[in-house]
Amino acid sequence: MRVEADVRRCVGAGQCVLTDPSLFDQDDEDGTVVLLTSEIDDDHVEAARDAVRLCPSGALSLADDR
Ligand code: SF4
Repeated sequence: MRVEADVRRCVGAGQCVLTDPSLFDQDDEDGTVVLLTSEIDDDHVEAARDAVRLCPSGALSLADDR
């Protein structure tokens, strides 16, 4: 499972970081999402799904490459 972020859509709301700070960070200057990893291990899949659901701008998506 991979997570992808469309930074152009990100509004810097930070919900993703609050959901799982091991997967997401925010840019120091404009607050847009920074992916800390693209491959999600099984322990973090639920949190990644929550982040996709909670993101107010629809900037996040999951891709199942398995
Ligand atoms: S929750 Fe969505 S809009 Fe907010 S920082 Fe994360 S990717 Fe950007």
